[in-house]
Amino acid sequence: MIGLVDGNNFFVSCERVFDPSLEGKPVAVLSNNDGCCISRSNEFKALGIAMGTPYFQLRDIAEREGLVFRSGNYELYGDLSRRIILILHEFSPDVEQYSIDEAFIRIPDPPGVREEAGRTDFFFRQGTLIRKTLLQWVGIPCGVGFAPSKTLAKIANHIGKKSPEGVFVMPEDPESILSALPVSEVWGVGRRLAPQLKRRGITTAWKLACADEKFLLKHFNVTLAKTARELAGEDLFQEEDPDALSKSVTCSRSFGQAVTTLDELSQAVCTYAATGAVKLRKEHQTASGINVYFQYYPEYAPYPSPGGITAATILFPSPTNHTSDILAAVTPKLKGIFLPEKRYKKAGIVYFGLENTLHAQGDLFADREKEERKENLSAALDLINRKYGKKTIFHLAEGIEKPWAMKRKMLTGRYTTSWDEIMEVK
Ligand SMILES: [Mg+2]
Repeated sequence: MIGLVDGNNFFVSCERVFDPSLEGKPVAVLSNNDGCCISRSNEFKALGIAMGTPYFQLRDIAEREGLVFRSGNYELYGDLSRRIILILHEFSPDVEQYSIDEAFIRIPDPPGVREEAGRTDFFFRQGTLIRKTLLQWVGIPCGVGFAPSKTLAKIANHIGKKSPEGVFVMPEDPESILSALPVSEVWGVGRRLAPQLKRRGITTAWKLACADEKFLLKHFNVTLAKTARELAGEDLFQEEDPDALSKSVTCSRSFGQAVTTLDELSQAVCTYAATGAVKLRKEHQTASGINVYFQYYPEYAPYPSPGGITAATILFPSPTNHTSDILAAVTPKLKGIFLPEKRYKKAGIVYFGLENTLHAQGDLFADREKEERKENLSAALDLINRKYGKKTIFHLAEGIEKPWAMKRKMLTGRYTTSWDEIMEVK
């Protein structure tokens, strides 16, 4: 059976682990630059405030309603997510992380148990144990749903999450459950396909499960046909190759406030390029070049014009993943794409032409000794930053004060990943 373990209101739950005073209060975590609500506690949802509501619309009612906000603390959430995955491995070696707060876990049938009641009981107890362990060891409440396919496990998880036990095992005959579920709620169907399905009489998940495969292939696509078979209990959505390498490495961010100088834009782009280079090295890849772009706000005078993008494609002299090489190639080109008198809101980079260093074509005229020194320098840089925290040492081109960096006014500490920010107990 496949279990889907999903953290309830995950970001808010992470904040509550380190600040129990948030229990029972309407809490929301905000997106980049404290933009809008991306995770809400049940109390917050009960006030009828929708996902994605901008923070500025809530600032005025925050005090009256007792709303509490936190800036997105992704380092903390990422670390708690990693711990959850580690713990799930104690229950089965077959764990597939699906998103920051969701993972599929495959658990074999109990030996010698045939009848449905016995199996259901076994998986219900497994789910309960997983839930209890995660709550006790990490502090995150999770919902668990078991079913024979991922698509059904998603549905089981939704039912489990709403039940007092937090766990649900899909019955062998799921007709009664799927008949009550609108087709739009099925994983992978979405807002675009649901109306088309409804027009053809497929209104519920059960009707999709029973739909003729040829009909689905003719009017829709192969993925939807697979979804239908998954609803009927077949296990078709296998894990994607976890060793698959990135085909491109990208990094972009909105600025905390409008940026107007080339200096600051250059710092931002160099920071993103350096972050991307770490990823390239981690995956043993080199890039042939990089695309750099700046995005600016529309102008207000004399009449509104659309905002725009100014960009450059930069090819490296030879494929590389060394930050120094990359920054040396990037920085001289930025002046050429900088448009003065614009107010910039975002910058980004995209590495392209990635290749595996193990199969790389060597450069006949390369200075081997110099190359080796670069390798050693990059390895030392990565080691130090892994050991003492990200950006412990960095290239000066990335800037020191970074006035352009994101606004995160309500940010909590990196309690689990930074010695400086560890909690004090009194
Ligand atoms: Mg969740």
